[in-house]
Amino acid sequence: MDKDCLFCKIAAGKMDTEFEFENDTLVVFKDINPHAPVHWLIVPKKHIRSINDLTAADRDIVAEITDVARQMARQAGVNESGYKLLFNVERGGGQVIFHLHMHLLGGWDKRK
Ligand code: 5GP
Ligand code: ZN
Repeated sequence: MDKDCLFCKIAAGKMDTEFEFENDTLVVFKDINPHAPVHWLIVPKKHIRSINDLTAADRDIVAEITDVARQMARQAGVNESGYKLLFNVERGGGQVIFHLHMHLLGGWDKRK
């Protein structure tokens, strides 16, 4: 845990953020400034700055992020209509919170 990191505080349950899902590895919560009808963030509890900082020891975390993303897409009702999964990486890639997170975006068009 990085004491100055907002997502560390949120993931530790210190910020009153409502979770859509939580397990030992990660939490999922709604983005405060959504860019899509469904915009959820999948956030590991471990503080990792960005994709650039992943090591081989983090492979299970990354696998779990994608597993949970798939489950969350179904929970949000966008699995069949489709969705985007996105990592912004460092400033030039649009990252503003330097704690690894995957964006789940969808719900624009629920027609099949
Ligand atoms: P990034 O640009 O770093 O990939 O995305 C960070 C995201 O976190 C942004 O979409 C932003 O709206 C969201 N965010 C920033 N602060 C908070 C917060 O306090 N609560 C929630 N739920 N989302 C936040
Ligand atoms: Zn952090």
